[in-house]
Amino acid sequence: MLKRLQADFQLTIVLLFGFFSSALITPFAVYRFLTGNTVVGVLDTVLVAIIAGVVAYGWKSGRTERTGRFLVIISGLGAMMSSELLGVVGVFWMYVAIVANFFLTTNLRFAAAFTLLIIALLAVTGHSFDTLAQMWSFLATSLLLSLLSYIIADQYASQHARLKHLATVDPLTGAFNRRNMELELDLAVEEFARTRAPMAVVLMDIDHFKRINDRHGHDTGDGVLCRFARLVRDHSRHIDRFYRYGGEEFLMLLKGAGAHEAAELAEKVRRACERELRDPAGAVTVSLGVAGLRPGESCQQWLARADAALYRAKHDGRNRMVLAD
Ligand code: GH3
Ligand code: MG
Ligand code: MG
Repeated sequence: MLKRLQADFQLTIVLLFGFFSSALITPFAVYRFLTGNTVVGVLDTVLVAIIAGVVAYGWKSGRTERTGRFLVIISGLGAMMSSELLGVVGVFWMYVAIVANFFLTTNLRFAAAFTLLIIALLAVTGHSFDTLAQMWSFLATSLLLSLLSYIIADQYASQHARLKHLATVDPLTGAFNRRNMELELDLAVEEFARTRAPMAVVLMDIDHFKRINDRHGHDTGDGVLCRFARLVRDHSRHIDRFYRYGGEEFLMLLKGAGAHEAAELAEKVRRACERELRDPAGAVTVSLGVAGLRPGESCQQWLARADAALYRAKHDGRNRMVLAD
């Protein structure tokens, strides 16, 4: 669980929001029932149930962004209803909803549009306010809070993206780094256990790479690594994850693809390298080992089978793809 939260910050926010909003609203629901305000009590209870359901959906499906957007709508509508039903006392919840809106989704335009809509609706209908001064005061403070939340969320998102890039991407080739690979492979094994959606890895190792360095220098070797990475990316689907395993070894994780589909892609990459990848002395080739994840298999066992297949490809003469047993 911690690994998933570590990998998906948005999911952490969704869970925290779900937990704390439910924990805060529940005592209010009890209080409303005890004081005879059944309508608001029912509303609060329904709100907690919906939030819990949506958060559970997000956790199970992994669709964090969609879950976040659902929660934006729910918290916004919840705050609006409480403002309508309770008057100015309920309006305080709007401020919580406004801040939450800008952090629950990464689509800040959507958050901004929805927030402005609920602020405008509340101000225009005007039922929640006892005086015009209260309405103007709400309008000014809520707009200011929205603007500040937008600026902070925007700053946060761009810094988070920059830091994430630095922490997860290999600067030479642009492939994801090994640390990220280990995290995502563990998650893929967990996802497979949960959903049974097929998963496969393709382990790739450039043939006689040391020779390229020795003959033409390290910089030429670096150039080959970069061109190889670009070539693999050009031949893969946008959902495939491409990692630098170390040195001149790379790994591709294919979600939703079985071993045979992965073998087809591996063969395509092999042929493309043979055709297009060059050093000053001629063609550069690659050997590949492919393994589909099996039920009950650990990440290490899965990788070991891909590694054994790669070893066989090398042993059998290089420039070939071998599908693991
Ligand atoms: P094989 O066909 O069996 O894979 O032989 P190989 O020469 O490719 O394999 P080996 O593992 O012996 O050599 C890998 C070389 O890759 C050794 C290392 O110096 C070089 N290397 C590792 N990282 C980098 C890098 O970032 N840049 C460059 N230019 N070379 C690197
Ligand atoms: Mg090699
Ligand atoms: Mg190697």
